[in-house]
Amino acid sequence: MAQKLIVGNWKMNGSLRSNALRFQVLAGEVQLPNQVVVLVPFVYLAQAKASLTGSDILWGAQDVSDQAGGAFTGDVSAEMLADFACHYVLVGHSERRKTHNESDIVIVDKFQHALNRSITPILCIGETAQDRQEGKSESVVLEQLDVVLKRLECLDPASFVVAYEPVWAIGTGKSASVESISAMHSLIRAHLKKWNARGEETRILYGGSVTTENAERILKLENVEGVLVGNASLEAHDFAAIARITA
Ligand code: PEP
Repeated sequence: MAQKLIVGNWKMNGSLRSNALRFQVLAGEVQLPNQVVVLVPFVYLAQAKASLTGSDILWGAQDVSDQAGGAFTGDVSAEMLADFACHYVLVGHSERRKTHNESDIVIVDKFQHALNRSITPILCIGETAQDRQEGKSESVVLEQLDVVLKRLECLDPASFVVAYEPVWAIGTGKSASVESISAMHSLIRAHLKKWNARGEETRILYGGSVTTENAERILKLENVEGVLVGNASLEAHDFAAIARITA
């Protein structure tokens, strides 16, 4: 039984009041078999730190600036995230690739800035429904991965996490089948091993409509080292149930 990484992405949800209840439930979870992380909106990082310090739950952010600091109105730097003891940060989530037109170069820079501050980047990759229809899923996913692998020299395989998130499965209630998750994760693993002899050490998460019903099946798959959970992480008891799964 290996420890998995269970990550909750709250997206743009929450309030001081509703967060307090969620944090209370999560902080009450002890002796979890997995490493558990909640990624909260920037403005609630102080609350996350105050509520979760000393608990088994870690916290992080959903994005980071591609710049170190300066005249970048509205952005939040990796150094600022480190001030709030963020452990993880999402990079290249499909919602940001789409709504903020994040380019490959911006994603690499964000990834590098996170690493510079010892915050573990979770690189989100995944094909759209159209890519899938056109039979391009594998090539799209590997290209998105290569953006980082090929541009960053001396990248330690254990220093980052990959989240395979088929875009068509995010927030739709339609998770990918276990067969297709298995196939894509094996492909990603093989690619990581070809890139680096220690490619086994990069954790690969699955994300896309993970729920209390399907999480165990997914977590038991080979090459699935954890899950990235959106909507289901907003219901603290559901998220805690996923966090308790031993797979
Ligand atoms: C996500 O936001 O990364 C995600 C996987 O969302 P959901 O679980 O709601 O599909």
